[in-house]
Amino acid sequence: MLLALVATLLGLLVGSFLNVVIYRLPVMMDRAWRRECAALLAAPGDASPEAEPFNLVRPRSACPACRTPIKARHNVPVLGWLWLRGRCAACSVPISARYPVVEAITGLLSGYLVWHFGYTPEAVAALGLTWALVALTVIDLDHQLLPDSITLPLLWAGLLFHLLFGPHPEGSPFAPSLADGVIGAMAGYLSLWLVYQGFRLVTGKEGMGYGDFKLFAALLAWLGYQMFLPILLLSAVTGALTGISLLLLGRHGRQEPIPFGPFLAAAGFVALVWGEPLLDAVPFLRVFG
Ligand SMILES: [Zn+2]
Repeated sequence: MLLALVATLLGLLVGSFLNVVIYRLPVMMDRAWRRECAALLAAPGDASPEAEPFNLVRPRSACPACRTPIKARHNVPVLGWLWLRGRCAACSVPISARYPVVEAITGLLSGYLVWHFGYTPEAVAALGLTWALVALTVIDLDHQLLPDSITLPLLWAGLLFHLLFGPHPEGSPFAPSLADGVIGAMAGYLSLWLVYQGFRLVTGKEGMGYGDFKLFAALLAWLGYQMFLPILLLSAVTGALTGISLLLLGRHGRQEPIPFGPFLAAAGFVALVWGEPLLDAVPFLRVFG
């Protein structure tokens, strides 16, 4: 119980860092693309203008409106935002509630995982996986993008985890063996790639992005091909229901794409925590298990 509390506090801090990743990583990617394009188009001998450094640590967090750096005590997860009543201390511009929300969700999920898995290597791995999923979910919601710089290392980390700590015992949420993870990664990528190509042939539209294939591959690298059907069905059904409700509520244009990453990530989390009971409850999900 104490450990779960510690994990919650750690999760709040990590959530604060995830906010930085969520905000800055897409900007960093955009800048990198622009630099590459400029370099390609530049005439030989042109000097490239060096911009201010912008990465996950620099510059310091500042108010987007008035550029005043954020004081350490206002940077405390959730409390800092409440203390400021959601406004910048210098210029009173509202600060989005989603910063404390991401922190609180990361904190609660972290506490729950440690309470669920106890003091085990599984808990540590589950924390890492879940933190990556939180960042991917929010970035995909914001930008319709699942950065390779998160999905690909996540996939390799899963396989490395099995290599170092596998085979995992009965009752572990992770792929029983390294081979199960490798097969899972291939099945995850290929299945969605096939759906994507089929959908494109029939409708001429792109229903998903390559990031979705990589995320599914990463999830199954961690959890094993045994979780192929549970994650696929859960994400497809919740995604479709959400899409239909948004359409019916008139909250979403028919042409506006809905990111699939958040549904994959959520289904992956469910499979991580409740995968085994789910397989027991719905036997046909075990076709591949
Ligand atoms: Zn300000």
